[in-house]
Amino acid sequence: MKQLLTSSILFLLLAGCGPRQLEPDAPIACDLCDQWNAPQDPFRVHGNTWYVGTRGLSSILIETNDGLVLIDGGLPQSAALIDANIRELGFDTRDVKAILLSHPHYDHAGGIAALQRLTGASVFTGVAGVATLSSGRLQEDDPQYVAASDAGSFPPVSNVTAVGDGEFVAIGDVSIRAVYTPGHTPGSVTWTWESCALNSCYHVVYADSLTAVSAQGFQFGASGTANELVDSAGVIGDLDCDILLTPHPFFFGMEDKLARLDEGNPFVNNLACILYAEGALGWLEQRLDSERSH
Ligand SMILES: [Zn+2]
Repeated sequence: MKQLLTSSILFLLLAGCGPRQLEPDAPIACDLCDQWNAPQDPFRVHGNTWYVGTRGLSSILIETNDGLVLIDGGLPQSAALIDANIRELGFDTRDVKAILLSHPHYDHAGGIAALQRLTGASVFTGVAGVATLSSGRLQEDDPQYVAASDAGSFPPVSNVTAVGDGEFVAIGDVSIRAVYTPGHTPGSVTWTWESCALNSCYHVVYADSLTAVSAQGFQFGASGTANELVDSAGVIGDLDCDILLTPHPFFFGMEDKLARLDEGNPFVNNLACILYAEGALGWLEQRLDSERSH
């Protein structure tokens, strides 16, 4: 009896005090979540590359000759919309063999557990993102980490495979290269691959976020993270880049480009990565000014 009581108390303690673990389908609430998760019709960006995300959170589908690849999964409540978008294009979601992640924040990684369950796909991200993605909890070195808090938590993902800087995830005839671009998070990865159609081949770059956004008190300047962002902006600006895509579609001008589809392919722009990098350096300068004046 005493032993039973002790184990019951132990169970209650573990259940009550352990970190909250979110179920794959448990929706996440945030100020912008409903706006981000508004439905978006899927569309072809170019050749093997399709947009299957929501209005404010990108999810990119890559078609190979041996299955599909998905990059980013939005919020947990985005997974059903992404699944429906993939099927609307005529693909079978169960053919997704690999899910790649840009960076482990709830608005891009939150839907991955549900999408993994739906597809059985392997999940890949950079070495520094594995602990966050596997636990669903921000690590201390993330600028948005808040001590002793569930802030930023999302459903954890099992069986995450780390991809090194410059290494490839190869599925069928498409190889997708991981390019480390830390700063927004320590584990930020930019992914790049080739898309060919009508005898023209383009370099597609899914450039990770370069925004200096943090929890209160974090200093991009004093922590050295600003230097990482400057280096990462340089890396993205130097990539072979004909088509830029980003985790938030606002940053590649999705709505504006969809409105100009009758003018050829508005997504093709070999200056887009350079302009994105320059924009990021401008925002960072503003952030550092405000850190210096506080
Ligand atoms: Zn983020």
